Amino acid sequence: MSLNECVKCWDDPCSCGWEYKHLSIESLEGLIKQRTLPFQMVLEYKKAHPDVQLSSSTFSERDSDKDFYKYSCKRRTELEESETVEHEE
Ligand SMILES: [Zn+2]
Repeated sequence: MSLNECVKCWDDPCSCGWEYKHLSIESLEGLIKQRTLPFQMVLEYKKAHPDVQLSSSTFSERDSDKDFYKYSCKRRTELEESETVEHEE
């Protein structure tokens, strides 16, 4: 049993929301962003490069994998900066 396992749904991480019910709206929005951002970046990259072949192995990096990583690092900075601007209103 993992320490992160939810006492209600027994999922790790919790899938029913019980474990997050005490968090502030700000924390929840931050978490959603943090969790969805990586998926969003891979999705964007794949849509922009429909024929790209990315490796599923951590130990074999192709040029396309390196290219993706470069893209995701740049994109992440962009997305985080745009987020900061929104909060300044
Ligand atoms: Zn749960």
